[in-house]
Amino acid sequence: MSDCLIIGGGLIGLLTARELLKSGLSVTILDKSQMGTESSWAGGGILSPLYPWRYEPSITALAQWSQQHYPDVLRQIQQEADYDPELLYSGLLLLNLGAEAQQANDWAKQYHYQLKTIAVEHIQRYEAGIDEQIVHDAYLMPDIAQVRNPRLMRAVYASVKSLGAKCVTNTTVQQILTKDNKAIGVETRQGEFLAKHIVLCSGAWTAELLQGCVDIPYIVPVKGEMIVFQAKPGIVAHIALSDGHYLIPRKDGHIVVGSSIEYSGFKKEISQKTGNKLRHFACQLFPLLEHYPIERHWAGLRPGSLSGIPYIGQHPQLEQLYINTGHYRNGVVTGLASCRLLADILLERSPVIDPAPYALNAERLVKDSSMIEPEKRADLLF
Ligand SMILES: Cc1cc2nc3c(=O)[nH]c(=O)nc-3n(C[C@H](O)[C@H](O)[C@H](O)COP(=O)(O)OP(=O)(O)OC[C@H]3O[C@@H](n4cnc5c(N)ncnc54)[C@H](O)[C@@H]3O)c2cc1C
Repeated sequence: MSDCLIIGGGLIGLLTARELLKSGLSVTILDKSQMGTESSWAGGGILSPLYPWRYEPSITALAQWSQQHYPDVLRQIQQEADYDPELLYSGLLLLNLGAEAQQANDWAKQYHYQLKTIAVEHIQRYEAGIDEQIVHDAYLMPDIAQVRNPRLMRAVYASVKSLGAKCVTNTTVQQILTKDNKAIGVETRQGEFLAKHIVLCSGAWTAELLQGCVDIPYIVPVKGEMIVFQAKPGIVAHIALSDGHYLIPRKDGHIVVGSSIEYSGFKKEISQKTGNKLRHFACQLFPLLEHYPIERHWAGLRPGSLSGIPYIGQHPQLEQLYINTGHYRNGVVTGLASCRLLADILLERSPVIDPAPYALNAERLVKDSSMIEPEKRADLLF
């Protein structure tokens, strides 16, 4: 029996495991498929929320802590794993903000982010291949970085194995086992797994897993489709965001383009129409991309929560059950802080961030109603 049982081996499960292992606890991680092959594999790896000023301060708090600590932690992970997750400071170019620019500037000032205004007539000094005709205004956050998700997942998985985690794949947790209002383990087809602490990091599937518990967090799968161009280095220099879509240039010249937001349950099918839309967006902004093929088109299921605020903490009704999920569009940038915070709560250490806004029973407002399915917009809590 391990001290901790982690359900879900995505980025959140693996980083939570790493924090607990580093604190001397024994950890078993269970995943229904292979580790790191769901949302955490599918994401873009931008280490900033898109349009960060649109989010609650509780998201900024997690993002800022992660942004400060990622370089050091990724260095350690790279050593433990002997594998490079490709942290790259490519900066975030924000295009066509219109009237929102004022809000962006105020937010940047308040939270001490660099946000530089770029004169449109000089935009090609920053992005030689951009079509300046469709750029109306431009701003640069030069300190924003990215990681390459599949590489990150491979590195974190190797890191937790090197630290002694027991990793069990192809094992679906069917139910939480309880005794006297305490979670004592989980049931799977392969048998029961018992532990002193159970941590749910099961992403979009978490509400399903908690059926039967008194409080179930509001978490719905939100599909996101992405494409990647097989291009060459230098065609796009920065992460470029315009009208809700973005391009992410990787070190080797691949350019990831995302993403869609779709409420279609747990289906991960891709549609040609969405792929074409993403391609059209990218080629309009960077016409040279017309000459490069799409190497791959995929979809992932984000764990969508109210206002995008993750649930981090103890379950209010079941002792020894913890939850770390619901990171929606920002699980990579907020994940490092979120996993440290969960470990602080579980180990009763002084928390790195105030845990109150992330508690399961904390009030969550729906700021951006597009995050929620229309028929569920009235259900603000549970
Ligand atoms: C297209 C797209 C683009 C994105 N871009 C970014 C970005 O640029 N920056 C950013 O910060 N975030 C981004 N995200 C969001 C980010 O990827 C997610 O918030 C994050 O990966 C969530 O991690 P997770 O570990 O909670 O979920 P997952 O990676 O989905 O992991 C959950 C794991 O739990 C397992 N599981 C579920 N149920 C069970 C069960 N019953 N038994 C056993 N195992 C179970 C699953 O198999 C899975 O491996 C993006 C997401 C998508 C889809």
